[in-house]
Amino acid sequence: MDRKNLFIAFEGIDGSGKSTQVNMLSAFLTERGHKVYTTCEPTESKIGKMIRDIFNHRMEGDQRVIAALFAADRLNHLLNSEDGILNKLEEGYTVITDRYYFSSYAYHSVHGIDMDWIIQTNSLSADLLRPDLNIYIDIQPEVSMERLKKGRTHIEMYETLENLSKVHKKYREAFEKIGDKEEVFYVNGDRTSSAISADINKKITSMI
Ligand code: ADP
Repeated sequence: MDRKNLFIAFEGIDGSGKSTQVNMLSAFLTERGHKVYTTCEPTESKIGKMIRDIFNHRMEGDQRVIAALFAADRLNHLLNSEDGILNKLEEGYTVITDRYYFSSYAYHSVHGIDMDWIIQTNSLSADLLRPDLNIYIDIQPEVSMERLKKGRTHIEMYETLENLSKVHKKYREAFEKIGDKEEVFYVNGDRTSSAISADINKKITSMI
């Protein structure tokens, strides 16, 4: 790898603490003088908005349509000339994203879409940019469900215990399937934010 600034993707079921850890890692790296760009999927683009409109029942969308929109949103996330990830990396930013293609592998396959199709459909993104590190926050679905209930006034489409459990299982399946093609750091999410953050900081420090 000739690029020194890292591209890091956080993965995990809803309520696993991804956005909390994205912020903590961003603060950690910023304090150490890195230029950090944090982002998430679905993005704020028009394609991302369509995905959110489907989630919020403002627009009809079959699960296969959702899966295809996510693949398009991801490509735009990488290639957009204004704030695309590839440009940000070129500009020297460390880029941290809350969700990337492993989220698609896990979430869409729960709805009966063949995981190999999802992997194939996202292969343009994977060929453009694989994360230097996928950080998977592994948490018991029961624990994340409790956190979501505490922290939110409404629960979104995917956020039932049954669904979180299915997604949790599909993540495992995806990591097993992809094997050593990807760098994955597993972190136990059933702990305090600072304990989780300490593990992540240590891992990232070893890479920079
Ligand atoms: P995600 O982005 O994965 O959905 P969040 O970071 O938004 O998860 O966290 C979900 C909820 O759980 C939030 O209310 C957050 O404050 C809380 N939370 C995050 N990490 C922890 C933790 N380690 N222990 C307890 N609560 C947490």
